[in-house]
Amino acid sequence: AVGKNIRTYFEGQWHDGDAPIMRAADHGAWLGSSVFDGARYFEGMAPDLEAHCARVNRSAKALMLTPFVSTQQMIEIIREGLASYGPGAAVYIRPMYWGIDGDATAIVPQENSTGFAICLEEIPMAPETASVTLGTTSFRRPVLESAVVNAKAGCLYPNNARMLSEVRAKGFSNALVADALGHVAETATANIFMVRDGEVFTPTPNGTFLAGITRARHIENLRADGTVVHEAILSFDDFHKADEIFMTGNMSKITPVTALEDTQYQVGPVARRARELYWDWALSTR
Ligand code: PMP
Repeated sequence: AVGKNIRTYFEGQWHDGDAPIMRAADHGAWLGSSVFDGARYFEGMAPDLEAHCARVNRSAKALMLTPFVSTQQMIEIIREGLASYGPGAAVYIRPMYWGIDGDATAIVPQENSTGFAICLEEIPMAPETASVTLGTTSFRRPVLESAVVNAKAGCLYPNNARMLSEVRAKGFSNALVADALGHVAETATANIFMVRDGEVFTPTPNGTFLAGITRARHIENLRADGTVVHEAILSFDDFHKADEIFMTGNMSKITPVTALEDTQYQVGPVARRARELYWDWALSTR
């Protein structure tokens, strides 16, 4: 583990440190049936925490696991765990479920056949000046018929790790990823937006990538602020011709993109405005 001040909730209580949670025979350990969600606590707020807790339960059901902690219970447990961090701490919140019982492949959907844990880890928020560069990757998002892309499932992420290794070897920090048809889907770790002539465009959810909670929040904020936001089918060429590109996700909320392969971009007014709108909204929920 790389984080600081890790706390683990497991089997009904909080433990200091990165506690062991899986057993060798757990379905999740050797067959990969696990789901998780990521949320953030920073500046005394945990924006959209309820949506992230609700989503991990939906993700569990999509994998035929049996989620047994209600959204409200989960929020209470997380609040209890966060209380031992200082008010100025920035914490990454990861609730997760995994399969315990199963034969060689099938998950057994019954009581006590699913494990649940929450990992809290102190990770600072990226500075406002942070940006990323994107490379294109030859690896693609799977379709719903080949993988559980309607869940935030752990088993999808090794593919994203391949994407990141591929583009990092070329000197980029993140990967712009295509769906099965070759249209832009998202990055390896976040959703993607572009701006052209003052209007905002983001890929239409088509069941191949995560239509993120942060993505939805930014769309709502921008529209309420009078900006036109299109959900559209977008090509790599569209992104090369964009005035601005930025990515959104729970970890950093919004991060401007300064390069896509050999095309350079400035941090623009729309990304700056979206960031301001997000923080104004988040602070209003504190
Ligand atoms: N796509 C991928 C692959 C992700 O891992 C994430 C982060 N969870 C997102 C998009 C953004 O989703 P959200 O805003 O719901 O965190």
